Amino acid sequence: DEQALRQELRAMHGASYGRYKSLRGQWHFPGFTLQVQRVQPDPFAPASRCEVRVTDEVAGFPEQLWCSPVRARALAGYLVRVAHRHLGDSRLRVDAGGQQVLDRSACQVQRGEVVLRLGIDLPGRGRTIDGRQAERALCDELPEVVETALRWATADQERVREFVASVEDTDALRRQLPGLGLIAFVADGAMLPRRSGVDERPLPGGVPFSAPESMRVSVELPNRGRVSGMGVPEGITLIVGGGFHGKSTLLRALEFGVYDHVPGDGRELVVCRAETVKIRAEDGRRVHRVDVSPFVSHLPTGADTADFSTDNASGSTSQAAAIVEAVEAGAKALLVDEDTAATNLMIRDARMQALVAKDAEPLTPFVDLIRPLRAAHAVSTVLVMGGSGDYMDVADQVVMLEDYHARDVTARARQLAAQPTGRRSEADTFPPVRHRVVDPRSIPTDRPKVRARGVDALTLGESTVELRGVEQLVDPAQVTGIGLALVSCARRGVLDGSRTVAEVLEAFAADVAERGIAAVDDRHVGDFAVPRPLDLAAALNRLRALRISGFRS
Ligand code: ADP
Ligand code: MG
Repeated sequence: DEQALRQELRAMHGASYGRYKSLRGQWHFPGFTLQVQRVQPDPFAPASRCEVRVTDEVAGFPEQLWCSPVRARALAGYLVRVAHRHLGDSRLRVDAGGQQVLDRSACQVQRGEVVLRLGIDLPGRGRTIDGRQAERALCDELPEVVETALRWATADQERVREFVASVEDTDALRRQLPGLGLIAFVADGAMLPRRSGVDERPLPGGVPFSAPESMRVSVELPNRGRVSGMGVPEGITLIVGGGFHGKSTLLRALEFGVYDHVPGDGRELVVCRAETVKIRAEDGRRVHRVDVSPFVSHLPTGADTADFSTDNASGSTSQAAAIVEAVEAGAKALLVDEDTAATNLMIRDARMQALVAKDAEPLTPFVDLIRPLRAAHAVSTVLVMGGSGDYMDVADQVVMLEDYHARDVTARARQLAAQPTGRRSEADTFPPVRHRVVDPRSIPTDRPKVRARGVDALTLGESTVELRGVEQLVDPAQVTGIGLALVSCARRGVLDGSRTVAEVLEAFAADVAERGIAAVDDRHVGDFAVPRPLDLAAALNRLRALRISGFRS
Protein backbone atom coordinates (compact mmCIF):
# COMPACT_ATOMS: atom_id res chain seq x y z
CA ASP A 1 0.00 0.00 0.00
CA GLU A 2 0.92 3.66 0.18
CA GLN A 3 3.07 3.26 3.33
CA ALA A 4 4.92 0.38 1.73
CA LEU A 5 5.59 2.53 -1.35
CA ARG A 6 6.95 5.35 0.83
CA GLN A 7 9.26 2.96 2.63
CA GLU A 8 10.36 1.38 -0.59
CA LEU A 9 11.24 4.76 -2.13
CA ARG A 10 13.12 5.84 1.00
CA ALA A 11 15.05 2.60 1.02
CA MET A 12 15.92 3.09 -2.67
CA HIS A 13 17.33 6.56 -2.18
CA GLY A 14 20.87 6.60 -3.55
CA ALA A 15 20.65 3.10 -4.99
CA SER A 16 21.43 2.45 -8.62
CA TYR A 17 18.73 3.71 -11.03
CA GLY A 18 17.84 0.22 -12.25
CA ARG A 19 16.27 -0.58 -8.91
CA TYR A 20 13.26 1.55 -9.83
CA LYS A 21 12.15 -1.53 -11.76
CA SER A 22 10.91 -3.04 -8.52
CA LEU A 23 8.14 -0.39 -8.41
CA ARG A 24 6.27 -2.19 -11.15
CA GLY A 25 2.88 -3.48 -10.04
CA GLN A 26 -0.03 -2.27 -8.01
CA TRP A 27 -0.06 0.03 -4.98
CA HIS A 28 -3.18 0.71 -2.95
CA PHE A 29 -3.77 4.23 -1.76
CA PRO A 30 -6.72 5.42 0.30
CA GLY A 31 -9.33 6.07 -2.39
CA PHE A 32 -7.44 4.88 -5.46
CA THR A 33 -4.99 2.36 -6.83
CA LEU A 34 -1.76 3.13 -8.63
CA GLN A 35 -0.46 0.72 -11.22
CA VAL A 36 3.14 1.26 -12.26
CA GLN A 37 3.11 -0.12 -15.78
CA ARG A 38 6.48 0.63 -17.25
CA VAL A 39 9.68 1.85 -15.65
CA GLN A 40 12.32 3.71 -17.62
CA PRO A 41 15.76 2.03 -17.61
CA ASP A 42 17.65 5.30 -17.11
CA PRO A 43 16.91 8.97 -16.40
CA PHE A 44 17.19 9.91 -20.10
CA ALA A 45 14.80 7.30 -21.46
CA PRO A 46 11.14 8.12 -22.25
CA ALA A 47 9.13 8.70 -19.08
CA SER A 48 7.83 5.84 -16.97
CA ARG A 49 4.12 5.14 -17.19
CA CYS A 50 1.49 4.62 -14.57
CA GLU A 51 -2.26 4.34 -14.27
CA VAL A 52 -4.51 5.61 -11.50
CA ARG A 53 -7.97 4.15 -10.90
CA VAL A 54 -10.53 5.89 -8.74
CA THR A 55 -13.63 3.79 -8.09
CA ASP A 56 -17.04 5.25 -8.87
CA GLU A 57 -17.92 5.53 -5.15
CA VAL A 58 -14.80 7.57 -4.38
CA ALA A 59 -14.98 9.64 -7.59
CA GLY A 60 -18.67 10.19 -6.98
CA PHE A 61 -19.74 11.74 -10.29
CA PRO A 62 -23.51 11.64 -10.82
CA GLU A 63 -24.58 9.06 -13.35
CA GLN A 64 -26.07 11.67 -15.73
CA LEU A 65 -22.53 12.92 -16.33
CA TRP A 66 -21.22 9.62 -17.72
CA CYS A 67 -24.20 7.46 -18.70
CA SER A 68 -23.74 7.78 -22.49
CA PRO A 69 -20.52 7.38 -24.50
CA VAL A 70 -20.45 11.08 -25.43
CA ARG A 71 -21.00 12.20 -21.82
CA ALA A 72 -18.30 9.82 -20.56
CA ARG A 73 -15.87 11.18 -23.16
CA ALA A 74 -16.78 14.75 -22.24
CA LEU A 75 -16.40 14.15 -18.51
CA ALA A 76 -13.02 12.49 -19.08
CA GLY A 77 -12.07 15.44 -21.29
CA TYR A 78 -12.92 17.83 -18.50
CA LEU A 79 -11.11 15.85 -15.77
CA VAL A 80 -7.92 15.41 -17.76
CA ARG A 81 -7.75 19.17 -18.34
CA VAL A 82 -8.20 19.92 -14.66
CA ALA A 83 -5.56 17.33 -13.77
CA HIS A 84 -3.20 18.83 -16.33
CA ARG A 85 -3.66 22.33 -14.97
CA HIS A 86 -3.24 21.09 -11.44
CA LEU A 87 0.00 19.27 -12.20
CA GLY A 88 1.61 22.38 -13.69
CA ASP A 89 5.33 21.73 -13.89
CA SER A 90 5.28 18.61 -11.74
CA ARG A 91 7.26 15.63 -13.00
CA LEU A 92 3.94 13.87 -13.38
CA ARG A 93 2.55 14.46 -16.87
CA VAL A 94 -0.86 13.99 -18.31
CA ASP A 95 -1.71 14.42 -21.98
CA ALA A 96 -4.77 16.67 -21.89
CA GLY A 97 -4.84 17.69 -25.56
CA GLY A 98 -5.92 21.02 -27.01
CA GLN A 99 -9.20 22.55 -28.10
CA GLN A 100 -10.77 19.28 -29.24
CA VAL A 101 -12.36 16.81 -26.87
CA LEU A 102 -11.01 13.52 -28.19
CA ASP A 103 -11.46 10.01 -26.90
CA ARG A 104 -8.03 9.58 -25.38
CA SER A 105 -6.12 7.05 -23.30
CA ALA A 106 -4.94 9.68 -20.80
CA CYS A 107 -8.35 9.74 -19.12
CA GLN A 108 -11.33 7.47 -19.38
CA VAL A 109 -14.52 7.27 -17.38
CA GLN A 110 -15.99 3.77 -17.33
CA ARG A 111 -19.27 3.34 -15.46
CA GLY A 112 -18.25 6.12 -13.13
CA GLU A 113 -14.77 4.78 -12.46
CA VAL A 114 -12.09 7.31 -13.41
CA VAL A 115 -8.87 6.10 -15.01
CA LEU A 116 -6.03 8.59 -15.38
CA ARG A 117 -2.83 7.61 -17.21
CA LEU A 118 0.32 9.54 -16.53
CA GLY A 119 3.93 9.74 -17.46
CA ILE A 120 6.52 10.30 -14.77
CA ASP A 121 10.17 11.10 -15.15
CA LEU A 122 11.51 9.10 -12.26
CA PRO A 123 14.05 11.37 -10.59
CA GLY A 124 17.73 10.49 -10.51
CA ARG A 125 21.00 12.01 -9.48
CA GLY A 126 23.32 10.84 -12.17
CA ARG A 127 22.77 7.10 -12.26
CA THR A 128 21.33 6.86 -8.76
CA ILE A 129 17.79 7.10 -7.48
CA ASP A 130 16.48 10.27 -5.90
CA GLY A 131 13.98 8.54 -3.63
CA ARG A 132 12.88 11.71 -1.84
CA GLN A 133 11.79 13.42 -5.05
CA ALA A 134 10.11 10.24 -6.22
CA GLU A 135 8.25 10.00 -2.92
CA ARG A 136 7.07 13.58 -3.29
CA ALA A 137 5.71 12.94 -6.78
CA LEU A 138 4.09 9.58 -6.19
CA CYS A 139 3.03 9.79 -2.55
CA ASP A 140 2.20 13.51 -2.18
CA GLU A 141 1.44 15.08 -5.57
CA LEU A 142 -0.43 12.13 -6.99
CA PRO A 143 -2.94 11.78 -4.11
CA GLU A 144 -3.36 15.56 -4.27
CA VAL A 145 -4.25 15.53 -7.94
CA VAL A 146 -6.71 12.68 -7.38
CA GLU A 147 -8.32 14.56 -4.53
CA THR A 148 -8.62 17.91 -6.31
CA ALA A 149 -9.13 16.89 -9.93
CA LEU A 150 -10.86 13.54 -10.04
CA ARG A 151 -13.61 13.82 -7.44
CA TRP A 152 -17.10 15.27 -7.66
CA ALA A 153 -16.96 16.45 -4.05
CA THR A 154 -14.13 18.87 -4.78
CA ALA A 155 -15.03 19.69 -8.40
CA ASP A 156 -16.37 22.96 -9.76
CA GLN A 157 -19.69 21.22 -10.31
CA GLU A 158 -21.29 23.94 -12.42
CA ARG A 159 -18.39 23.92 -14.87
CA VAL A 160 -18.35 20.13 -15.10
CA ARG A 161 -22.04 20.15 -16.01
CA GLU A 162 -21.53 22.93 -18.56
CA PHE A 163 -18.62 21.14 -20.20
CA VAL A 164 -20.51 17.87 -20.54
CA ALA A 165 -23.66 19.63 -21.77
CA SER A 166 -21.72 21.62 -24.36
CA VAL A 167 -19.95 18.59 -25.82
CA GLU A 168 -23.21 16.67 -25.88
CA ASP A 169 -24.87 19.51 -27.80
CA THR A 170 -22.08 19.58 -30.39
CA ASP A 171 -22.35 15.85 -30.89
CA ALA A 172 -26.15 16.01 -31.13
CA LEU A 173 -25.95 18.85 -33.64
CA ARG A 174 -23.60 16.82 -35.85
CA ARG A 175 -25.92 13.82 -35.67
CA GLN A 176 -28.86 15.97 -36.81
CA LEU A 177 -27.17 17.08 -40.03
CA PRO A 178 -28.18 14.14 -42.28
CA GLY A 179 -31.83 14.42 -41.25
CA LEU A 180 -31.78 18.13 -42.11
CA GLY A 181 -30.16 17.51 -45.49
CA LEU A 182 -27.10 19.46 -44.36
CA ILE A 183 -23.42 18.69 -44.49
CA ALA A 184 -22.39 21.45 -42.09
CA PHE A 185 -23.73 24.04 -39.68
CA VAL A 186 -22.13 27.25 -38.40
CA ALA A 187 -23.98 28.84 -35.50
CA ASP A 188 -24.72 32.52 -35.30
CA GLY A 189 -22.21 34.03 -32.92
CA ALA A 190 -19.54 31.38 -33.58
CA MET A 191 -15.96 32.66 -33.44
CA LEU A 192 -13.97 31.18 -36.32
CA PRO A 193 -10.55 32.87 -36.54
CA ARG A 194 -7.66 31.55 -34.42
CA ARG A 195 -4.86 33.55 -32.86
CA SER A 196 -2.26 32.13 -35.23
CA GLY A 197 -1.24 29.04 -37.12
CA VAL A 198 0.33 27.65 -33.96
CA ASP A 199 -2.15 28.98 -31.42
CA GLU A 200 -5.56 27.37 -31.70
CA ARG A 201 -7.26 29.64 -29.19
CA PRO A 202 -9.90 32.05 -30.54
CA LEU A 203 -8.73 35.38 -31.93
CA PRO A 204 -9.66 38.09 -29.42
CA GLY A 205 -11.81 40.77 -31.01
CA GLY A 206 -12.72 38.64 -34.02
CA VAL A 207 -15.98 39.21 -35.87
CA PRO A 208 -18.60 36.66 -34.78
CA PHE A 209 -20.24 34.61 -37.50
CA SER A 210 -23.70 35.53 -38.67
CA ALA A 211 -25.74 33.46 -41.12
CA PRO A 212 -27.20 34.91 -44.32
CA GLU A 213 -30.96 35.12 -43.76
CA SER A 214 -31.74 32.80 -46.68
CA MET A 215 -29.50 30.06 -45.28
CA ARG A 216 -30.49 30.41 -41.66
CA VAL A 217 -31.61 27.18 -40.04
CA SER A 218 -32.82 26.69 -36.52
CA VAL A 219 -32.16 23.48 -34.61
CA GLU A 220 -33.12 22.12 -31.22
CA LEU A 221 -30.28 20.90 -29.00
CA PRO A 222 -30.66 18.73 -25.90
CA ASN A 223 -29.12 21.27 -23.50
CA ARG A 224 -28.93 24.70 -25.08
CA GLY A 225 -32.39 24.43 -26.65
CA ARG A 226 -32.97 26.26 -29.92
CA VAL A 227 -30.00 27.73 -31.79
CA SER A 228 -29.77 29.27 -35.25
CA GLY A 229 -27.01 29.41 -37.80
CA MET A 230 -26.01 28.80 -41.38
CA GLY A 231 -26.95 25.41 -42.71
CA VAL A 232 -24.73 24.20 -45.54
CA PRO A 233 -26.98 21.97 -47.65
CA GLU A 234 -25.85 18.80 -49.39
CA GLY A 235 -24.64 19.54 -52.88
CA ILE A 236 -22.04 21.95 -54.17
CA THR A 237 -21.30 25.05 -52.11
CA LEU A 238 -18.99 27.71 -53.40
CA ILE A 239 -17.34 30.21 -51.04
CA VAL A 240 -16.23 33.34 -52.86
CA GLY A 241 -14.98 36.79 -51.89
CA GLY A 242 -11.90 38.97 -52.10
CA GLY A 243 -8.55 37.99 -50.66
CA PHE A 244 -8.27 38.28 -46.84
CA HIS A 245 -12.04 38.44 -46.36
CA GLY A 246 -12.18 35.23 -44.33
CA LYS A 247 -12.85 32.43 -46.86
CA SER A 248 -10.12 30.06 -45.70
CA THR A 249 -10.94 30.77 -42.07
CA LEU A 250 -14.50 29.58 -42.64
CA LEU A 251 -13.30 26.47 -44.46
CA ARG A 252 -10.77 25.65 -41.70
CA ALA A 253 -13.57 25.88 -39.15
CA LEU A 254 -15.60 23.42 -41.24
CA GLU A 255 -12.62 21.03 -41.45
CA PHE A 256 -12.43 20.86 -37.67
CA GLY A 257 -16.20 20.55 -37.43
CA VAL A 258 -15.65 16.80 -37.21
CA TYR A 259 -14.49 17.44 -33.62
CA ASP A 260 -16.19 18.65 -30.46
CA HIS A 261 -14.54 21.77 -29.09
CA VAL A 262 -14.13 22.86 -25.48
CA PRO A 263 -16.46 25.54 -24.11
CA GLY A 264 -15.09 28.99 -24.89
CA ASP A 265 -13.40 27.85 -28.10
CA GLY A 266 -15.86 29.67 -30.33
CA ARG A 267 -16.44 26.59 -32.51
CA GLU A 268 -18.65 24.63 -30.10
CA LEU A 269 -21.52 24.86 -32.58
CA VAL A 270 -19.56 24.60 -35.82
CA VAL A 271 -19.97 21.07 -37.11
CA CYS A 272 -19.77 19.05 -40.26
CA ARG A 273 -20.58 15.45 -41.07
CA ALA A 274 -18.25 12.96 -39.46
CA GLU A 275 -17.43 11.66 -42.98
CA THR A 276 -15.85 14.92 -44.12
CA VAL A 277 -12.42 14.97 -45.74
CA LYS A 278 -10.21 17.95 -46.51
CA ILE A 279 -8.66 17.52 -49.93
CA ARG A 280 -5.44 19.17 -51.00
CA ALA A 281 -2.58 18.84 -53.45
CA GLU A 282 0.43 17.13 -51.91
CA ASP A 283 3.17 16.78 -54.45
CA GLY A 284 5.83 14.24 -53.61
CA ARG A 285 3.53 11.82 -51.83
CA ARG A 286 3.28 8.15 -52.60
CA VAL A 287 0.22 6.84 -54.41
CA HIS A 288 -0.37 3.11 -54.65
CA ARG A 289 -2.69 1.48 -57.17
CA VAL A 290 -5.38 4.18 -57.22
CA ASP A 291 -7.80 4.57 -60.11
CA VAL A 292 -7.24 8.21 -61.00
CA SER A 293 -8.69 7.75 -64.50
CA PRO A 294 -11.69 10.03 -63.86
CA PHE A 295 -9.19 12.90 -63.56
CA VAL A 296 -6.21 11.68 -65.57
CA SER A 297 -7.01 9.94 -68.83
CA HIS A 298 -3.57 9.14 -70.15
CA LEU A 299 -0.03 10.06 -69.24
CA PRO A 300 2.90 10.83 -71.52
CA THR A 301 4.74 7.98 -69.76
CA GLY A 302 2.04 5.54 -70.84
CA ALA A 303 1.30 4.58 -67.22
CA ASP A 304 -2.12 3.01 -66.59
CA THR A 305 -4.12 5.71 -64.85
CA ALA A 306 -6.81 3.21 -63.76
CA ASP A 307 -4.18 1.43 -61.67
CA PHE A 308 -1.85 4.25 -60.89
CA SER A 309 1.19 4.16 -58.62
CA THR A 310 4.01 6.57 -58.01
CA ASP A 311 6.52 7.39 -55.29
CA ASN A 312 6.48 11.04 -56.21
CA ALA A 313 3.10 12.33 -57.28
CA SER A 314 2.61 15.73 -58.89
CA GLY A 315 0.27 18.32 -57.45
CA SER A 316 -2.59 17.33 -59.74
CA THR A 317 -2.20 13.54 -59.47
CA SER A 318 -1.81 13.73 -55.70
CA GLN A 319 -5.04 15.69 -55.42
CA ALA A 320 -6.85 13.37 -57.83
CA ALA A 321 -5.67 10.39 -55.76
CA ALA A 322 -6.79 12.09 -52.54
CA ILE A 323 -10.32 12.55 -53.93
CA VAL A 324 -10.62 8.96 -55.18
CA GLU A 325 -9.16 7.59 -51.91
CA ALA A 326 -11.62 9.68 -49.87
CA VAL A 327 -14.58 8.35 -51.85
CA GLU A 328 -13.26 4.80 -51.50
CA ALA A 329 -12.96 5.29 -47.73
CA GLY A 330 -16.57 6.48 -47.44
CA ALA A 331 -16.32 10.28 -47.44
CA LYS A 332 -19.64 12.09 -47.84
CA ALA A 333 -18.30 15.64 -48.00
CA LEU A 334 -15.11 17.09 -49.45
CA LEU A 335 -13.57 20.43 -48.51
CA VAL A 336 -11.25 22.14 -50.98
CA ASP A 337 -9.43 25.46 -50.69
CA GLU A 338 -7.95 27.15 -53.75
CA ASP A 339 -4.95 28.07 -51.58
CA THR A 340 -3.85 24.43 -51.36
CA ALA A 341 -5.35 22.96 -54.53
CA ALA A 342 -3.61 22.22 -57.83
CA THR A 343 -4.86 24.84 -60.28
CA ASN A 344 -4.56 22.55 -63.31
CA LEU A 345 -6.82 20.00 -61.61
CA MET A 346 -9.37 22.62 -60.60
CA ILE A 347 -9.99 24.62 -63.76
CA ARG A 348 -9.62 24.66 -67.55
CA ASP A 349 -11.44 27.62 -68.97
CA ALA A 350 -13.00 28.20 -72.41
CA ARG A 351 -9.96 29.85 -73.91
CA MET A 352 -7.66 27.07 -72.81
CA GLN A 353 -10.13 24.52 -74.17
CA ALA A 354 -9.95 26.36 -77.50
CA LEU A 355 -6.17 26.49 -77.54
CA VAL A 356 -5.29 23.04 -76.19
CA ALA A 357 -7.40 20.23 -77.61
CA LYS A 358 -8.95 17.76 -75.18
CA ASP A 359 -6.88 14.85 -76.49
CA ALA A 360 -3.69 16.80 -75.78
CA GLU A 361 -4.74 17.37 -72.16
CA PRO A 362 -4.73 14.33 -69.85
CA LEU A 363 -6.46 16.18 -67.01
CA THR A 364 -10.20 16.48 -66.59
CA PRO A 365 -10.77 19.39 -64.21
CA PHE A 366 -12.67 18.99 -60.93
CA VAL A 367 -15.22 21.55 -62.11
CA ASP A 368 -16.59 18.93 -64.52
CA LEU A 369 -16.49 16.05 -62.02
CA ILE A 370 -17.90 17.81 -58.98
CA ARG A 371 -21.54 17.23 -60.01
CA PRO A 372 -21.05 13.67 -61.31
CA LEU A 373 -19.36 12.89 -58.00
CA ARG A 374 -22.45 14.06 -56.19
CA ALA A 375 -24.82 12.23 -58.55
CA ALA A 376 -22.97 8.91 -58.53
CA HIS A 377 -21.59 8.81 -54.98
CA ALA A 378 -23.68 11.28 -52.97
CA VAL A 379 -20.51 13.20 -52.13
CA SER A 380 -21.00 16.92 -51.49
CA THR A 381 -18.28 19.53 -51.86
CA VAL A 382 -17.57 22.87 -50.21
CA LEU A 383 -15.08 24.80 -52.24
CA VAL A 384 -13.26 28.08 -51.62
CA MET A 385 -12.66 29.68 -55.00
CA GLY A 386 -12.15 33.40 -55.38
CA GLY A 387 -10.13 33.18 -58.58
CA SER A 388 -12.33 31.50 -61.18
CA GLY A 389 -15.97 32.01 -62.09
CA ASP A 390 -16.37 28.67 -63.85
CA TYR A 391 -17.60 27.01 -60.66
CA MET A 392 -20.72 29.22 -60.75
CA ASP A 393 -22.02 26.84 -63.42
CA VAL A 394 -21.97 23.90 -61.05
CA ALA A 395 -22.70 25.44 -57.63
CA ASP A 396 -25.98 24.84 -55.80
CA GLN A 397 -25.28 27.76 -53.52
CA VAL A 398 -22.73 30.52 -53.44
CA VAL A 399 -21.69 32.24 -50.22
CA MET A 400 -19.71 35.44 -50.39
CA LEU A 401 -17.51 36.65 -47.58
CA GLU A 402 -17.13 40.36 -47.24
CA ASP A 403 -15.23 41.75 -44.27
CA TYR A 404 -15.85 38.39 -42.56
CA HIS A 405 -19.60 38.64 -43.11
CA ALA A 406 -21.30 35.86 -45.05
CA ARG A 407 -23.84 36.73 -47.77
CA ASP A 408 -25.90 34.48 -49.98
CA VAL A 409 -25.09 35.53 -53.57
CA THR A 410 -26.58 32.43 -55.24
CA ALA A 411 -29.19 34.34 -57.25
CA ARG A 412 -26.65 36.75 -58.73
CA ALA A 413 -24.25 33.89 -59.49
CA ARG A 414 -27.08 32.07 -61.33
CA GLN A 415 -27.73 35.13 -63.48
CA LEU A 416 -24.06 35.31 -64.37
CA ALA A 417 -23.89 31.60 -65.05
CA ALA A 418 -26.79 31.91 -67.48
CA GLN A 419 -24.59 33.93 -69.82
CA PRO A 420 -22.60 31.34 -71.78
CA THR A 421 -18.80 31.44 -71.60
CA GLY A 422 -18.35 28.97 -74.44
CA ARG A 423 -16.91 26.45 -72.01
CA ARG A 424 -17.85 22.79 -72.61
CA SER A 425 -18.03 20.19 -69.88
CA GLU A 426 -15.46 17.42 -70.24
CA ALA A 427 -17.13 14.72 -68.16
CA ASP A 428 -20.64 13.56 -67.38
CA THR A 429 -20.08 10.58 -65.11
CA PHE A 430 -17.92 9.59 -62.18
CA PRO A 431 -17.18 5.86 -62.43
CA PRO A 432 -17.78 3.40 -59.59
CA VAL A 433 -15.06 3.05 -56.97
CA ARG A 434 -12.63 0.21 -57.41
CA HIS A 435 -12.19 -1.08 -53.89
CA ARG A 436 -8.63 -2.10 -53.14
CA VAL A 437 -7.84 -5.26 -51.19
CA VAL A 438 -5.13 -4.69 -48.57
CA ASP A 439 -2.24 -7.15 -48.42
CA PRO A 440 -1.61 -8.06 -44.73
CA ARG A 441 2.14 -7.67 -45.24
CA SER A 442 1.59 -3.92 -45.51
CA ILE A 443 1.84 -3.51 -41.75
CA PRO A 444 4.32 -5.17 -39.39
CA THR A 445 2.83 -7.27 -36.58
CA ASP A 446 5.95 -7.61 -34.41
CA ARG A 447 5.04 -4.62 -32.22
CA PRO A 448 6.98 -2.05 -34.23
CA LYS A 449 7.92 1.25 -32.67
CA VAL A 450 5.05 3.74 -32.98
CA ARG A 451 5.88 7.40 -32.54
CA ALA A 452 4.32 10.68 -33.58
CA ARG A 453 6.37 13.59 -34.87
CA GLY A 454 3.85 16.25 -34.00
CA VAL A 455 0.96 15.92 -36.44
CA ASP A 456 3.34 15.89 -39.40
CA ALA A 457 4.62 12.34 -39.46
CA LEU A 458 4.24 8.90 -37.96
CA THR A 459 7.12 6.56 -37.33
CA LEU A 460 5.99 2.98 -37.74
CA GLY A 461 8.84 0.54 -37.21
CA GLU A 462 11.50 1.30 -39.79
CA SER A 463 9.35 3.57 -41.93
CA THR A 464 7.97 7.08 -41.74
CA VAL A 465 4.52 8.10 -42.90
CA GLU A 466 4.31 11.72 -44.01
CA LEU A 467 1.06 13.23 -42.71
CA ARG A 468 1.51 16.90 -43.51
CA GLY A 469 -1.11 16.57 -46.24
CA VAL A 470 -3.66 15.16 -43.78
CA GLU A 471 -4.86 18.51 -42.52
CA GLN A 472 -7.64 17.45 -40.19
CA LEU A 473 -5.21 15.89 -37.71
CA VAL A 474 -5.01 18.19 -34.70
CA ASP A 475 -3.20 16.26 -31.98
CA PRO A 476 -0.05 14.11 -31.90
CA ALA A 477 -2.04 11.63 -29.80
CA GLN A 478 -4.16 10.95 -32.89
CA VAL A 479 -1.03 10.20 -34.90
CA THR A 480 0.10 7.72 -32.25
CA GLY A 481 -3.44 6.34 -32.29
CA ILE A 482 -3.25 5.81 -36.04
CA GLY A 483 0.01 3.88 -35.71
CA LEU A 484 -1.29 1.73 -32.87
CA ALA A 485 -4.60 1.13 -34.65
CA LEU A 486 -2.86 0.00 -37.83
CA VAL A 487 -0.72 -2.43 -35.84
CA SER A 488 -3.73 -3.60 -33.85
CA CYS A 489 -5.67 -4.28 -37.07
CA ALA A 490 -2.73 -6.25 -38.42
CA ARG A 491 -2.18 -8.25 -35.22
CA ARG A 492 -5.84 -9.16 -34.76
CA GLY A 493 -6.18 -10.38 -38.31
CA VAL A 494 -8.44 -7.56 -39.52
CA LEU A 495 -6.01 -7.40 -42.43
CA ASP A 496 -6.71 -10.97 -43.49
CA GLY A 497 -5.91 -10.54 -47.14
CA SER A 498 -9.57 -10.42 -48.17
CA ARG A 499 -10.67 -7.06 -46.82
CA THR A 500 -10.79 -3.89 -48.84
CA VAL A 501 -9.69 -0.54 -47.42
CA ALA A 502 -13.34 0.35 -46.72
CA GLU A 503 -13.92 -2.98 -44.99
CA VAL A 504 -10.83 -2.55 -42.80
CA LEU A 505 -12.18 0.85 -41.72
CA GLU A 506 -15.60 -0.61 -41.01
CA ALA A 507 -14.09 -3.37 -38.89
CA PHE A 508 -12.03 -0.81 -37.00
CA ALA A 509 -15.03 1.47 -36.39
CA ALA A 510 -17.11 -1.47 -35.15
CA ASP A 511 -14.32 -2.50 -32.80
CA VAL A 512 -14.07 1.06 -31.42
CA ALA A 513 -17.83 1.15 -30.88
CA GLU A 514 -17.59 -2.09 -28.92
CA ARG A 515 -14.33 -1.75 -27.01
CA GLY A 516 -13.46 1.95 -27.07
CA ILE A 517 -9.77 2.79 -26.81
CA ALA A 518 -8.88 -0.91 -26.40
CA ALA A 519 -9.56 -1.25 -30.13
CA VAL A 520 -6.55 1.00 -30.69
CA ASP A 521 -4.26 -0.52 -28.07
CA ASP A 522 -5.33 -2.83 -25.28
CA ARG A 523 -2.15 -2.33 -23.28
CA HIS A 524 -2.92 1.37 -22.65
CA VAL A 525 0.66 2.17 -21.82
CA GLY A 526 1.26 5.22 -24.00
CA ASP A 527 -0.75 8.37 -24.70
CA PHE A 528 -2.98 8.13 -27.73
CA ALA A 529 -6.36 9.22 -29.05
CA VAL A 530 -8.84 7.23 -31.11
CA PRO A 531 -8.33 8.29 -34.73
CA ARG A 532 -11.11 8.88 -37.24
CA PRO A 533 -11.42 5.97 -39.67
CA LEU A 534 -10.95 8.43 -42.54
CA ASP A 535 -7.64 9.61 -41.10
CA LEU A 536 -6.60 6.00 -40.59
CA ALA A 537 -7.24 5.52 -44.31
CA ALA A 538 -5.24 8.65 -45.14
CA ALA A 539 -2.25 7.25 -43.24
CA LEU A 540 -2.62 3.80 -44.78
CA ASN A 541 -2.66 5.38 -48.23
CA ARG A 542 0.58 7.22 -47.49
CA LEU A 543 2.37 4.20 -46.03
CA ARG A 544 5.40 3.34 -48.14
CA ALA A 545 4.92 -0.34 -47.31
CA LEU A 546 1.27 -0.43 -48.44
CA ARG A 547 0.62 -3.33 -50.81
CA ILE A 548 -2.64 -3.81 -52.65
CA SER A 549 -3.27 -7.37 -53.73
CA GLY A 550 -6.31 -6.84 -55.93
CA PHE A 551 -9.57 -5.03 -56.59
CA ARG A 552 -13.25 -5.53 -55.94
CA SER A 553 -16.08 -3.40 -57.22
P1 ADP B 1 -9.08 34.56 -47.43
O1 ADP B 1 -9.00 33.06 -47.46
O2 ADP B 1 -10.43 35.07 -47.85
O3 ADP B 1 -7.99 35.22 -48.20
P2 ADP B 1 -8.48 34.29 -44.60
O4 ADP B 1 -9.54 33.36 -44.15
O5 ADP B 1 -7.12 33.72 -44.80
O6 ADP B 1 -8.93 35.07 -45.92
O7 ADP B 1 -8.45 35.47 -43.54
C1 ADP B 1 -7.57 36.56 -43.65
C2 ADP B 1 -7.26 37.09 -42.25
O8 ADP B 1 -8.43 37.56 -41.61
C3 ADP B 1 -6.66 36.04 -41.32
O9 ADP B 1 -5.58 36.61 -40.63
C4 ADP B 1 -7.79 35.73 -40.36
O10 ADP B 1 -7.31 35.37 -39.07
C5 ADP B 1 -8.58 36.99 -40.33
N1 ADP B 1 -10.00 36.68 -40.07
C6 ADP B 1 -10.75 35.76 -40.70
N2 ADP B 1 -12.01 35.75 -40.23
C7 ADP B 1 -12.07 36.70 -39.27
C8 ADP B 1 -13.11 37.17 -38.40
N3 ADP B 1 -14.32 36.63 -38.44
N4 ADP B 1 -12.79 38.16 -37.54
C9 ADP B 1 -11.56 38.69 -37.50
N5 ADP B 1 -10.54 38.29 -38.30
C10 ADP B 1 -10.78 37.30 -39.17
MG1 MG C 1 -7.63 31.86 -48.49
